Amino acid sequence: VMQNPGELEFHQAVREVFGSLKPVVEQNEEQFRRDALLERIVNPERQLKFRVPWVDDNGQAHVNTGYRIQFNSAIGPYKGGIRLHPSVNSGIVKFLGFEQIFKNSLTGLPIGGGKGGSDFDPKGKSDREVMSFCQSFMTELCKHIGADTDVPAGDIGTGAREIGYMFGQYKRIRGLYEGVLTGKGLSYGGSLARTEATGYGVLYLTEEMLKKNGKDINGMTVVVSGSGNVAIYAIQKAHQLGAKAVTASDSTGWIFDPDGIDISVLKEIKEIKRQRLTEYKKHRPNSEYHEGRGVWTVKCDIALPCATQNELFLEDAEALVSNGCIAVAEGANMPTTADATEYFLQHGVLFAPGKAANAGGVATSALEMTQNSERLSWSFEEVDSKLQTIMVNIFHNIDDAARRYGLENNYVAGANIAGFEKIVDAMNAQGIV
Ligand code: NDP
Repeated sequence: VMQNPGELEFHQAVREVFGSLKPVVEQNEEQFRRDALLERIVNPERQLKFRVPWVDDNGQAHVNTGYRIQFNSAIGPYKGGIRLHPSVNSGIVKFLGFEQIFKNSLTGLPIGGGKGGSDFDPKGKSDREVMSFCQSFMTELCKHIGADTDVPAGDIGTGAREIGYMFGQYKRIRGLYEGVLTGKGLSYGGSLARTEATGYGVLYLTEEMLKKNGKDINGMTVVVSGSGNVAIYAIQKAHQLGAKAVTASDSTGWIFDPDGIDISVLKEIKEIKRQRLTEYKKHRPNSEYHEGRGVWTVKCDIALPCATQNELFLEDAEALVSNGCIAVAEGANMPTTADATEYFLQHGVLFAPGKAANAGGVATSALEMTQNSERLSWSFEEVDSKLQTIMVNIFHNIDDAARRYGLENNYVAGANIAGFEKIVDAMNAQGIV
């Protein structure tokens, strides 16, 4: 905390992980201390911060700040998304990069932890303005990334459009046609099922977690926050599994549709027209729109926070539990505050943390890297079935890890421990680097 003041979200993430690792460290305290393992894990291998100048449609120049953190390469090249949102700062990128190390390890695939972004806000900008920003951002970033070094992807504010502009600029400057970014369009190296992967993966893991605890997702009511990439495909897969998702939200308000969110309307509004959720009621007169926060007051069996960090507070957890919610799976990264997480665990709610529940996105990104390396494209069914297997394996790995340390059903501890074990093993094998 003294070395990195002001990085609140990073401190929150480290506190949570280290809290879970106590029993693991205690087994081998001397070696952990001698080799400064924990100190090395919280110190990124490299952090980049750079100026991103761009020009708007009126000829006005603007300057944003770009970030890339290359946190840990013990098990593979750095991998993690690029977030474009006004709230981005070095502490946010650092917390996301730290979480990414353990998440990537849990996928079972050879990818290290990284993350990046900028405080640029794509909302309300023209396509040309977004292109101007993305080209400028990549003009600097391209010096530090590569298909075998560091492979960024999408995140909040970075979708197919932004990835396309960034890929074009990388290729132009570096002269390399390679899988340096994932989440690409299908015509230039993207993978089928990557768009759906994070949301679908959240549901595959949730289904398995419920099954293991003797419950069936079919017929359950689901409350979802967010209305972006993760939320949309979580809602779609919930419906495909026979559950009913009744809410979605954005940073200004939320919608409730008692008949279940109409996914084609939601996709039209958010993916095609880039409009706000206020539009939804025009298509679905039975639905309600509310300003502000409030999705967590809706009665449900399962809650899926899929918007952003620290969006589900203690009072929300209390409301969910008193309304009978039995399971929570984090589609977003660290959406649940520390005290809300603790409340869920103490009240017997099955709680799947983001680093396990939303790992399907990065796992499928790694499958995109594999396809790019072999210069082949797999079918949707092939990618989707690999994703299902990965999510089911993640659940069993975190369940086993929790059990090994006598922490049955504590999937927060299980995910931290299972992710950590592989990283530590690789770091030990590679010496003090
Ligand atoms: P999108 O940009 O597609 O959507 C983000 C959604 O969250 C929007 O509905 C947005 O509303 C809302 N939101 C963003 N910031 C805030 C805020 N400060 N307060 C309230 N609402 C907010 O992003 P994604 O769906 O890709 O990402 C959502 C979460 O999932 C993030 O935590 C991300 O890190 C995580 N994640 C994403 C993966 C992926 O593959 N895309 C993979 C793993 C994790 P508005 O439009 O009003 O801003």
